[in-house]
Amino acid sequence: MSLRIVVCVKYVPDATGDRHFADDLTVDRDDVDGLLSELDEYAVEQALQIAEEADEAEVTVLTVGPEDARDALRKALSMGADKAVHVEDDDLHGTDVMGTSLVLAKAIEKAGYDLVITGMASTDGTMGVLPAILAERLGVPQVTLLSEVKVEDGTVTGRRDGDTASEQLEASLPALVSVTDQSGEARYPSFKGIMAAKKKPVESWDLSDLDVEAEEVGLEGSWTAVDSAAQRPARTAGTIVKDEGEGGKQLAEFLAGQKFI
Ligand SMILES: Cc1cc2nc3c(=O)[nH]c(=O)nc-3n(C[C@H](O)[C@H](O)[C@H](O)COP(=O)(O)OP(=O)(O)OC[C@H]3O[C@@H](n4cnc5c(N)ncnc54)[C@H](O)[C@@H]3O)c2cc1C
Repeated sequence: MSLRIVVCVKYVPDATGDRHFADDLTVDRDDVDGLLSELDEYAVEQALQIAEEADEAEVTVLTVGPEDARDALRKALSMGADKAVHVEDDDLHGTDVMGTSLVLAKAIEKAGYDLVITGMASTDGTMGVLPAILAERLGVPQVTLLSEVKVEDGTVTGRRDGDTASEQLEASLPALVSVTDQSGEARYPSFKGIMAAKKKPVESWDLSDLDVEAEEVGLEGSWTAVDSAAQRPARTAGTIVKDEGEGGKQLAEFLAGQKFI
Protein backbone atom coordinates (compact mmCIF):
# COMPACT_ATOMS: atom_id res chain seq x y z
CA MET A 1 0.00 0.00 0.00
CA SER A 2 1.24 3.48 -0.84
CA LEU A 3 2.79 5.49 2.00
CA ARG A 4 1.00 8.85 2.14
CA ILE A 5 3.28 11.64 3.38
CA VAL A 6 2.00 15.18 3.94
CA VAL A 7 4.63 17.91 4.42
CA CYS A 8 3.55 21.23 5.97
CA VAL A 9 5.41 24.08 4.32
CA LYS A 10 5.11 27.73 5.17
CA TYR A 11 5.46 30.76 2.88
CA VAL A 12 7.34 33.39 4.89
CA PRO A 13 8.46 36.99 4.29
CA ASP A 14 12.02 37.16 2.97
CA ALA A 15 14.17 37.92 6.03
CA THR A 16 16.61 39.96 3.93
CA GLY A 17 13.85 42.42 2.98
CA ASP A 18 12.23 45.23 4.97
CA ARG A 19 9.41 43.84 7.13
CA HIS A 20 6.53 45.75 8.70
CA PHE A 21 3.38 45.37 10.73
CA ALA A 22 0.11 46.37 9.07
CA ASP A 23 -2.30 48.82 10.77
CA ASP A 24 -4.10 45.97 12.56
CA LEU A 25 -0.71 44.84 13.99
CA THR A 26 -0.57 41.67 11.89
CA VAL A 27 2.52 40.98 9.80
CA ASP A 28 2.31 42.86 6.51
CA ARG A 29 2.43 40.01 3.98
CA ASP A 30 1.25 41.97 0.96
CA ASP A 31 4.13 44.38 0.40
CA VAL A 32 7.00 41.98 0.95
CA ASP A 33 8.57 39.26 -1.13
CA GLY A 34 8.12 35.80 0.30
CA LEU A 35 9.61 32.35 -0.09
CA LEU A 36 9.42 28.77 1.16
CA SER A 37 10.66 28.81 4.76
CA GLU A 38 14.24 27.51 4.61
CA LEU A 39 13.63 25.22 7.59
CA ASP A 40 10.75 23.56 5.73
CA GLU A 41 13.07 22.63 2.85
CA TYR A 42 14.60 20.10 5.27
CA ALA A 43 11.13 18.63 5.86
CA VAL A 44 10.56 18.28 2.10
CA GLU A 45 13.99 16.67 1.73
CA GLN A 46 13.29 14.07 4.42
CA ALA A 47 9.89 13.29 2.87
CA LEU A 48 11.51 12.72 -0.53
CA GLN A 49 14.20 10.46 0.95
CA ILE A 50 11.58 8.39 2.83
CA ALA A 51 9.50 8.13 -0.37
CA GLU A 52 12.56 7.02 -2.37
CA GLU A 53 13.19 4.20 0.13
CA ALA A 54 9.54 3.06 0.19
CA ASP A 55 8.05 0.54 -2.26
CA GLU A 56 5.34 3.03 -3.11
CA ALA A 57 4.80 6.53 -1.70
CA GLU A 58 3.16 9.83 -2.45
CA VAL A 59 4.37 13.18 -1.11
CA THR A 60 1.81 15.99 -0.76
CA VAL A 61 2.95 19.48 0.25
CA LEU A 62 0.45 21.62 2.13
CA THR A 63 0.40 25.30 2.96
CA VAL A 64 -2.03 27.67 4.65
CA GLY A 65 -1.29 31.10 3.28
CA PRO A 66 -2.12 33.95 0.93
CA GLU A 67 -2.22 33.71 -2.88
CA ASP A 68 1.55 34.10 -3.24
CA ALA A 69 2.09 31.07 -0.99
CA ARG A 70 1.76 29.03 -4.20
CA ASP A 71 5.40 29.96 -4.84
CA ALA A 72 6.40 27.90 -1.79
CA LEU A 73 4.36 24.96 -3.11
CA ARG A 74 5.94 25.26 -6.57
CA LYS A 75 9.42 25.16 -5.05
CA ALA A 76 8.57 22.01 -3.06
CA LEU A 77 7.04 20.42 -6.18
CA SER A 78 10.15 21.26 -8.20
CA MET A 79 12.26 19.57 -5.51
CA GLY A 80 10.24 16.39 -6.21
CA ALA A 81 6.96 16.37 -4.23
CA ASP A 82 4.06 14.77 -6.16
CA LYS A 83 1.17 17.15 -5.49
CA ALA A 84 0.19 20.19 -3.47
CA VAL A 85 -2.70 21.61 -1.47
CA HIS A 86 -3.13 25.34 -0.93
CA VAL A 87 -5.57 26.52 1.75
CA GLU A 88 -6.48 30.12 1.12
CA ASP A 89 -9.36 32.19 2.45
CA ASP A 90 -9.79 35.91 3.23
CA ASP A 91 -11.05 34.96 6.70
CA LEU A 92 -7.61 33.53 7.56
CA HIS A 93 -6.16 37.03 7.92
CA GLY A 94 -4.69 37.34 11.44
CA THR A 95 -5.02 33.63 12.34
CA ASP A 96 -2.61 32.61 15.10
CA VAL A 97 -1.01 29.23 15.73
CA MET A 98 -4.22 27.76 17.21
CA GLY A 99 -6.24 28.59 14.10
CA THR A 100 -3.44 27.62 11.72
CA SER A 101 -3.07 24.22 13.40
CA LEU A 102 -6.85 23.68 13.20
CA VAL A 103 -6.92 24.42 9.47
CA LEU A 104 -3.84 22.27 8.82
CA ALA A 105 -5.34 19.36 10.79
CA LYS A 106 -8.61 19.50 8.83
CA ALA A 107 -6.72 19.71 5.52
CA ILE A 108 -4.44 16.79 6.44
CA GLU A 109 -7.45 14.66 7.40
CA LYS A 110 -9.15 15.54 4.11
CA ALA A 111 -6.00 14.75 2.08
CA GLY A 112 -5.40 11.43 3.90
CA TYR A 113 -2.04 10.58 5.49
CA ASP A 114 0.19 8.03 7.16
CA LEU A 115 2.99 10.43 8.08
CA VAL A 116 3.01 14.22 8.57
CA ILE A 117 6.39 16.00 8.39
CA THR A 118 6.96 19.60 9.49
CA GLY A 119 9.95 21.85 9.91
CA MET A 120 11.31 22.56 13.42
CA ALA A 121 10.02 26.17 13.34
CA SER A 122 9.07 28.74 10.76
CA THR A 123 11.62 31.44 10.00
CA ASP A 124 9.10 34.25 10.69
CA GLY A 125 6.90 33.27 13.66
CA THR A 126 9.57 30.86 15.01
CA MET A 127 7.22 29.57 17.71
CA GLY A 128 8.19 25.93 17.11
CA VAL A 129 4.97 24.76 18.76
CA LEU A 130 2.79 24.10 15.75
CA PRO A 131 3.98 20.48 15.26
CA ALA A 132 3.00 19.51 18.82
CA ILE A 133 -0.41 21.22 18.61
CA LEU A 134 -1.06 19.66 15.21
CA ALA A 135 -0.26 16.13 16.45
CA GLU A 136 -2.61 16.68 19.38
CA ARG A 137 -5.38 17.85 17.06
CA LEU A 138 -4.85 14.82 14.77
CA GLY A 139 -4.69 12.50 17.78
CA VAL A 140 -1.45 10.85 16.60
CA PRO A 141 1.97 10.39 18.25
CA GLN A 142 4.51 13.19 17.77
CA VAL A 143 8.23 12.58 17.37
CA THR A 144 9.72 16.04 17.22
CA LEU A 145 13.07 17.67 16.47
CA LEU A 146 14.63 14.72 14.66
CA SER A 147 18.06 14.93 13.03
CA GLU A 148 17.58 11.56 11.36
CA VAL A 149 14.33 9.88 10.33
CA LYS A 150 13.40 6.51 8.79
CA VAL A 151 10.17 4.63 8.10
CA GLU A 152 10.04 0.83 8.12
CA ASP A 153 7.22 -1.68 8.60
CA GLY A 154 4.64 0.88 9.70
CA THR A 155 6.97 2.51 12.23
CA VAL A 156 8.80 5.83 12.12
CA THR A 157 12.12 5.97 13.96
CA GLY A 158 14.44 8.88 14.49
CA ARG A 159 17.28 10.44 16.42
CA ARG A 160 16.87 13.56 18.52
CA ASP A 161 20.17 15.22 19.41
CA GLY A 162 20.35 17.12 22.69
CA ASP A 163 23.25 19.13 24.15
CA THR A 164 24.61 16.20 26.12
CA ALA A 165 22.96 13.09 24.69
CA SER A 166 21.03 11.68 21.73
CA GLU A 167 17.75 9.82 22.01
CA GLN A 168 16.43 7.15 19.67
CA LEU A 169 12.65 7.50 19.31
CA GLU A 170 9.94 5.59 17.50
CA ALA A 171 6.19 5.70 16.89
CA SER A 172 3.67 3.64 14.97
CA LEU A 173 2.09 5.23 11.93
CA PRO A 174 0.03 7.34 11.55
CA ALA A 175 2.34 9.86 13.25
CA LEU A 176 3.80 13.34 12.99
CA VAL A 177 7.51 14.18 12.95
CA SER A 178 9.34 17.49 12.85
CA VAL A 179 12.88 17.62 11.50
CA THR A 180 15.78 19.93 12.29
CA ASP A 181 18.27 21.72 10.07
CA GLN A 182 20.75 18.96 11.00
CA SER A 183 18.73 16.32 9.14
CA GLY A 184 20.62 16.71 5.85
CA GLU A 185 21.12 19.30 3.09
CA ALA A 186 17.95 19.98 1.11
CA ARG A 187 18.33 19.30 -2.61
CA TYR A 188 18.21 22.08 -5.20
CA PRO A 189 15.43 21.81 -7.76
CA SER A 190 16.86 20.58 -11.08
CA PHE A 191 15.81 22.12 -14.42
CA LYS A 192 13.86 18.91 -15.11
CA GLY A 193 12.20 19.21 -11.68
CA ILE A 194 11.21 22.83 -12.33
CA MET A 195 9.63 21.91 -15.68
CA ALA A 196 7.86 18.85 -14.21
CA ALA A 197 6.46 20.95 -11.33
CA LYS A 198 4.45 23.06 -13.78
CA LYS A 199 2.31 19.99 -14.61
CA LYS A 200 1.83 18.69 -11.06
CA PRO A 201 -1.61 19.11 -9.45
CA VAL A 202 -2.20 21.96 -6.98
CA GLU A 203 -5.57 21.81 -5.23
CA SER A 204 -7.10 24.94 -3.68
CA TRP A 205 -9.32 24.64 -0.65
CA ASP A 206 -11.05 27.33 1.39
CA LEU A 207 -12.54 27.19 4.88
CA SER A 208 -15.89 25.84 3.67
CA ASP A 209 -14.11 22.85 2.06
CA LEU A 210 -12.71 22.04 5.50
CA ASP A 211 -15.84 22.69 7.59
CA VAL A 212 -14.03 25.44 9.49
CA GLU A 213 -16.14 28.44 10.57
CA ALA A 214 -14.79 31.98 10.07
CA GLU A 215 -15.07 32.63 13.85
CA GLU A 216 -12.63 29.78 14.58
CA VAL A 217 -9.81 31.55 12.72
CA GLY A 218 -8.73 35.12 11.95
CA LEU A 219 -8.17 37.76 14.61
CA GLU A 220 -11.52 36.85 16.22
CA GLY A 221 -10.62 33.18 16.68
CA SER A 222 -7.05 33.82 17.85
CA TRP A 223 -5.99 32.91 21.37
CA THR A 224 -3.22 35.50 21.19
CA ALA A 225 -3.36 39.22 20.38
CA VAL A 226 -0.74 41.89 19.71
CA ASP A 227 -1.62 45.01 21.76
CA SER A 228 1.10 47.31 20.49
CA ALA A 229 4.23 47.41 18.41
CA ALA A 230 6.95 50.03 18.16
CA GLN A 231 9.71 50.71 15.67
CA ARG A 232 13.08 49.44 16.83
CA PRO A 233 15.17 52.49 17.88
CA ALA A 234 17.85 53.54 15.40
CA ARG A 235 21.34 52.18 16.11
CA THR A 236 23.46 54.44 18.30
CA ALA A 237 27.22 54.84 18.12
CA GLY A 238 27.75 52.59 21.14
CA THR A 239 30.20 52.98 24.02
CA ILE A 240 33.94 52.82 23.43
CA VAL A 241 36.04 51.74 26.39
CA LYS A 242 39.66 52.97 26.16
CA ASP A 243 42.00 50.75 28.14
CA GLU A 244 44.23 52.97 30.21
CA GLY A 245 44.77 50.42 32.94
CA GLU A 246 41.13 50.27 34.12
CA GLY A 247 39.61 48.82 30.86
CA GLY A 248 38.59 45.48 32.36
CA LYS A 249 36.89 47.13 35.31
CA GLN A 250 35.04 49.57 33.06
CA LEU A 251 33.88 46.72 30.82
CA ALA A 252 32.60 44.76 33.83
CA GLU A 253 30.80 47.85 35.14
CA PHE A 254 29.21 48.44 31.75
CA LEU A 255 28.00 44.82 31.48
CA ALA A 256 26.71 44.86 35.07
CA GLY A 257 24.91 48.18 34.37
CA GLN A 258 23.14 46.55 31.40
CA LYS A 259 22.36 43.50 33.58
CA PHE A 260 24.35 41.21 31.24
CA ILE A 261 26.34 39.87 34.20
C1 LIG B 1 -2.77 35.19 5.93
C2 LIG B 1 -2.22 34.80 7.29
C3 LIG B 1 -2.20 35.75 8.32
C4 LIG B 1 -1.68 35.40 9.58
N1 LIG B 1 -1.69 36.32 10.58
C5 LIG B 1 -1.20 35.96 11.80
C6 LIG B 1 -1.25 36.85 12.91
O1 LIG B 1 -1.71 37.96 12.79
N2 LIG B 1 -0.77 36.43 14.12
C7 LIG B 1 -0.26 35.17 14.28
O2 LIG B 1 0.16 34.80 15.40
N3 LIG B 1 -0.20 34.31 13.26
C8 LIG B 1 -0.65 34.68 12.03
N4 LIG B 1 -0.64 33.77 11.00
C9 LIG B 1 -0.21 32.41 11.27
C10 LIG B 1 1.26 32.35 11.44
O3 LIG B 1 1.91 32.87 10.33
C11 LIG B 1 1.75 30.94 11.70
O4 LIG B 1 1.48 30.08 10.61
C12 LIG B 1 1.22 30.29 12.93
O5 LIG B 1 1.01 31.23 13.94
C13 LIG B 1 2.22 29.24 13.37
O6 LIG B 1 3.30 29.88 14.02
P1 LIG B 1 4.77 29.64 13.57
O7 LIG B 1 4.95 29.97 12.14
O8 LIG B 1 5.63 30.36 14.56
O9 LIG B 1 4.88 28.05 13.74
P2 LIG B 1 6.07 27.12 14.11
O10 LIG B 1 5.60 26.28 15.22
O11 LIG B 1 7.36 27.88 14.26
O12 LIG B 1 6.15 26.26 12.77
C14 LIG B 1 6.64 24.93 12.75
C15 LIG B 1 6.29 24.28 11.45
O13 LIG B 1 4.88 24.27 11.27
C16 LIG B 1 4.58 24.35 9.87
N5 LIG B 1 3.77 25.54 9.60
C17 LIG B 1 3.66 26.67 10.34
N6 LIG B 1 2.79 27.52 9.75
C18 LIG B 1 2.36 26.92 8.62
C19 LIG B 1 1.46 27.31 7.58
N7 LIG B 1 0.85 28.50 7.59
N8 LIG B 1 1.25 26.45 6.55
C20 LIG B 1 1.87 25.23 6.53
N9 LIG B 1 2.73 24.82 7.49
C21 LIG B 1 2.97 25.66 8.52
C22 LIG B 1 5.92 24.38 9.14
O14 LIG B 1 6.29 23.05 8.80
C23 LIG B 1 6.84 24.94 10.20
O15 LIG B 1 8.19 24.60 10.01
C24 LIG B 1 -1.15 34.10 9.77
C25 LIG B 1 -1.14 33.17 8.72
C26 LIG B 1 -1.68 33.51 7.49
C27 LIG B 1 -1.68 32.47 6.41
